[in-house]
Amino acid sequence: MKVQCFTVGMFGVNTYLLTDEATGASAIVDTGETDELVRALSALEPAPDVKMILLTHGHLDHAGALTLLQEVWDVPTYLPRQERPLFETLPVQGRMFGMPQLDRPCGRVDHWVEDGDAIALGETTLRFLSTPGHTPGQGCYFDEHDIVVGDTLFAGSIGRTDFPMSDPAQAVQSLRRLLALPGHLRVHSGHGPMTTLGEELASNPFLGYLRRERGLPAGPTIRWAPGT
Ligand SMILES: [Zn+2]
Repeated sequence: MKVQCFTVGMFGVNTYLLTDEATGASAIVDTGETDELVRALSALEPAPDVKMILLTHGHLDHAGALTLLQEVWDVPTYLPRQERPLFETLPVQGRMFGMPQLDRPCGRVDHWVEDGDAIALGETTLRFLSTPGHTPGQGCYFDEHDIVVGDTLFAGSIGRTDFPMSDPAQAVQSLRRLLALPGHLRVHSGHGPMTTLGEELASNPFLGYLRRERGLPAGPTIRWAPGT
C-alpha cells in the first residue's frame, strides 16, 4: 500500500491518500476543514481512483471538509460508530473554535465502523482498531505495514484528553491496545512527522507506563493520567 500525506488547513492536519498498488484503488483518510485537500488531490496526475473516504474521528480539522470532498468523490464514507455524537456537533464546531465561517453540514456517513472491522481496498485489507480517549470513538486503520492513527498517537506525544468529550482513562487503555500491535508498523499521525510503533514504545514520554508494564528501560516519563 502506498501512503501519501497532505498537510492542510489552519490546524496543519495530516490527511492521507492510501493506494492499493495492485489495483490502484485509493482511500482518502480525513479531510482538513478547507478545500485545500480537494485541490491537492484534483491536481494529481494520474487522477486517483478514489473508492472511499475513511475518517479517524469527528473533530473539525479531521472531518470538517467532508461535504466538500463528497461533492467531488461521491464514495462510501466510514466513521467509527462511537464517534457519532461528536460528528453531529460538526455544524457548530467552527463556532466553538471561534471560526463560524467553517460551520457547515456534516456530510454523509455510509458505514459506522466498529473495532475489528475489515475494509477491502482493492487487494489490501484494512483493519480498524478502536482507540477512544481523545474523542469518544476515534480509531486507526491499518494493514501489515502502515497504520493511520488520527490524534491517538504522535511522534513523541499523544492526542489531548482535556476536550469536553475526551476520556483520559480510555486513552490509557487505547494506547495499551495500539502499542500491542507489531513495532515495525509505520505510524501516520494526524499531526507531525511519521514514526513507528517501536520507536514510540521505546521513547515516547507519554508511554512510560507501557514500558514499566513490559519491563523495558523507563526513559523520560510524563504522568498524564491515573495509572501512567
Ligand atoms: Zn482531534
